[in-house]
Amino acid sequence: IDKYRNQQVLVLGMAKSGYTAAKLLHRLGAKVTINDRSSLKDDAHAKELTALGIHVVDGGHPEHLVSENVFTVVKNPGIPYSNPLIEKALRLNIPVITEVELAYQISEAEFIGITGSNGKTTTTMLLGEMMKGSRYEPIVAGNIGTVLSEVAQNATPEQVIIAELSSFQLLGIDEFHPRVSVFLNLFEAHLDYHGTIEEYGRAKARLAKNQTENDVVVYNADDKRISALIKDVKAQKVPFSFSGVIKDGAYFDQGYLCYNDEKILSKEEMAMPGLHNIENALAAIAAAKVYKVSNEYLRQVLTTFSGVRHRLEFVKELNGRRFFNDSKATNILATKKALGAFKEPVILLAGGLDRGNGFDDLIPALTNVKAVVTFGETKNKISEAASAAGVKNVKIVDNVEEAVPSAYDLSSSGDIILLSPACASWDQFATFEQRGDMFIKRVHMLK
Ligand code: ADP
Repeated sequence: IDKYRNQQVLVLGMAKSGYTAAKLLHRLGAKVTINDRSSLKDDAHAKELTALGIHVVDGGHPEHLVSENVFTVVKNPGIPYSNPLIEKALRLNIPVITEVELAYQISEAEFIGITGSNGKTTTTMLLGEMMKGSRYEPIVAGNIGTVLSEVAQNATPEQVIIAELSSFQLLGIDEFHPRVSVFLNLFEAHLDYHGTIEEYGRAKARLAKNQTENDVVVYNADDKRISALIKDVKAQKVPFSFSGVIKDGAYFDQGYLCYNDEKILSKEEMAMPGLHNIENALAAIAAAKVYKVSNEYLRQVLTTFSGVRHRLEFVKELNGRRFFNDSKATNILATKKALGAFKEPVILLAGGLDRGNGFDDLIPALTNVKAVVTFGETKNKISEAASAAGVKNVKIVDNVEEAVPSAYDLSSSGDIILLSPACASWDQFATFEQRGDMFIKRVHMLK
């Protein structure tokens, strides 16, 4: 595309997506400035961009970076609209977009966009597998490590980009137009940024705003908030439902995942554990059916796709105990979902960053839990909740490394040993992935 040639573009935020967008815009002939409030003195990416002739401004957000001469601002999804540079750009009627919009503008491939409060990554990865059974070559992108505008640069019309999209990213789209949009669910989340659940919903609804009669919206018919959000869209609506038979959609009935009147497979045959993953599978089935993927192919994927790393990930079996890593469970709701996936007695490893909340909501979910091993900033709070729930063995330790052998000591053959912390990892780890990896490493050291 030619629209950025010789234009001044300001990229805000030097994360991976900002770095990629800056390089791309430079290649498209734009005069690029990238700005980050942190110091980038020893940053290898900053050095690389500077060498290309990109203007790197770090250590603050000086207001002179935005003037009437700026053609477009590309902002990191995490930077709030109250940032002075963004406020100034909007005052001057300069378009403020996210890197998703840029990806759309340059892509020759069509898009499937997936949004929701929970299950985005799982559904995106699962649909990526299913779409290998279509006539397109799928590329998955989004929050899973691959930057959208990077994959979009080289995409061809024979490919389809399956993009996991957050509400933050969707606030910055303009022309972005997916062939299929998927709306999973809407919970109270991220309200610190969006203010109210209505605003959070409106941000997500933008995913379908440019869709036409030739496009498809896949939506969760069990979720009233989602149904309300997509009420007025122009695209064809394809519902999915966990709670019973629906016409012209995907649903779960009498133990089977079905599409229209056809059974695809039974819940027992699915490789991914947990009822919430049936919902994710139904959403993916409905989207794959737009591309006419056969029931046989869907079956093959669903019987083998065992999930995404750190989401109820099976680690190993040792002396009759099965170990699962659910480090991505950074809130109570996610841990409840994880506990609901098992009928066997569970030994739960939980704890982490203290956000000031209590853990009473966890108590009803602990009925199947025979022991809790807790660590991190919230260890005392979680220990109290576990005792209140009547859990027989509650043990406080310092960290995940100690929690694993303690859990093993409390276990017997047939038990599930589950890391599902109900807390963010930042008190002791940089990321939830590192926490999960530490758990796995320690599990493999057990004899
Ligand atoms: P996201 O990318 O939206 O954060 P993930 O696929 O990474 O979602 O799943 C994160 C956690 O959310 C999972 O560990 C699980 O506990 C929970 N979860 C996944 N799918 C659903 C769903 N459909 N409904 C409710 N909770 C879910």
